[in-house]
Amino acid sequence: VLTCLVGSFADVPQDLLKEIQELECLFTIDTAKLKQITNRFQAELDKGLSVEGGSIPMNPTWVMSFPTGYETGTYLALDMGGTNLRVCQITLTEQKSEFDIIQSKYRMPEELKTGEADELWEYIADCLMQFLETHHGDTSKLEKLPLGFTFSYPATQNYVDAGILQRWTKGFDIAGVEGHNVVPMFEAALAARGVPIKLAALINDTTGTLIASAYTDTKMKIGCIFGTGCNAAYMEDCGSIPKLAHLNLPPDTPMAINCEWGAFDNEHQVLPRTPYDITIDKDSPRPGQQAFEKMIAGLYLGEIFRLVMVDLHDNHETHIFANQDISKLRKAYSLDSSFLSAIEEDPYENLSETFELFQNKLDITPSLPELELIRRTAELIGTRAARLSACGVAAISRKKSYNTCHVGADGSVFNKYPNFKARGALALREILDWPEKNDPKEDDPIEILAAEDGSGVGAALIAALTLQRVKNGNM
Ligand code: BGC
Ligand code: MG
Repeated sequence: VLTCLVGSFADVPQDLLKEIQELECLFTIDTAKLKQITNRFQAELDKGLSVEGGSIPMNPTWVMSFPTGYETGTYLALDMGGTNLRVCQITLTEQKSEFDIIQSKYRMPEELKTGEADELWEYIADCLMQFLETHHGDTSKLEKLPLGFTFSYPATQNYVDAGILQRWTKGFDIAGVEGHNVVPMFEAALAARGVPIKLAALINDTTGTLIASAYTDTKMKIGCIFGTGCNAAYMEDCGSIPKLAHLNLPPDTPMAINCEWGAFDNEHQVLPRTPYDITIDKDSPRPGQQAFEKMIAGLYLGEIFRLVMVDLHDNHETHIFANQDISKLRKAYSLDSSFLSAIEEDPYENLSETFELFQNKLDITPSLPELELIRRTAELIGTRAARLSACGVAAISRKKSYNTCHVGADGSVFNKYPNFKARGALALREILDWPEKNDPKEDDPIEILAAEDGSGVGAALIAALTLQRVKNGNM
């Protein structure tokens, strides 16, 4: 039996209390369930590396070493994430693990995400050209700069400088790209504009995060993104990747694997999905894909919350926000995860900031008990996301027998969502059965820490490692 943990500034009537308790049952994932999910996760990681494959892609990335800290040179990095486009120029300096960076951010117009492929590549090429003109002046005399392109979508890589898009994620839906190598499309747009850039490596943000974090902290073994999307990368041995056996790579050679764990449980065997999760999936551009990601990632957290609120208003006897016009709340994807962050950040005295948020953004005037319900719903959704995330980290750690290590994490949810880190750490402790700490200041055996800039510095490092490998005459 779950006890209701609502605060106490308002008297919550019985029926609303019952509603809150039902939400708690739907969204709470206890330790036993976390363990069950982790076990299945670990098995799915193995399956993804097998010849037959599974639902987690486990994409080899051809990033085949950790940096030493002594990499040098000047590189460009392009980050096409889910929300922004960022261009950086990174100089890895002679000093160990040091770098200089200049960067510009460009807004990724919403229309581009569901528009035409040509428009996407042209926009990206224009941003790169603009960056070069700003920082180098006359580009016609510029020698071609090596670029690490962080393309954070699942891609099959037969080479480090190629990637066949498996499927769009994070709400992108651009025809004519899935199933194709994105590099020639990108290079054609550069060539058409005479942008003096040579792509050295196509990179996933998680791989960049792993490499950037390991540049300054050799205990870093896993790179994670908890942002608009959610995913992780780690270093495998080629000998443990059956699907690459035909290439006869030396078994102890490292190979970074971009897990694409967002696809975990696409077959719906173990994750406790709520009716709201099912609706999100059904109404997304790619139903049946990214089951795990849709319960965790920043793109979806606000939407899950919104669906709960609308459902309670329309279909439940309590009819929250009764007799109010909730038309603003009905707009899909109108609440992003920063809306939930703001609710969770509200000091609990009277939830006045939450009240104002609802009034200003949604034209809804919540009652005090409704504010309690709003707050608790946000906590449940945020807590579930953090706890599920820990299952992925635990699964990789166990698979690799990492009893102690650092995990580098980046992304808006990890960096900005209140309590995400603490909730994730607690879940990891439950899953891995760590004993009580003697001293609260003691470090956890496996710590999830803020990462270095993966799609900037990480991309530059991967470009550097790749050019070095080519120079040495290896793959
Ligand atoms: C993508 C991954 C990416 C993650 C975080 C997911 O939707 O499939 O490639 O690493 O988002 O950006
Ligand atoms: Mg990013």
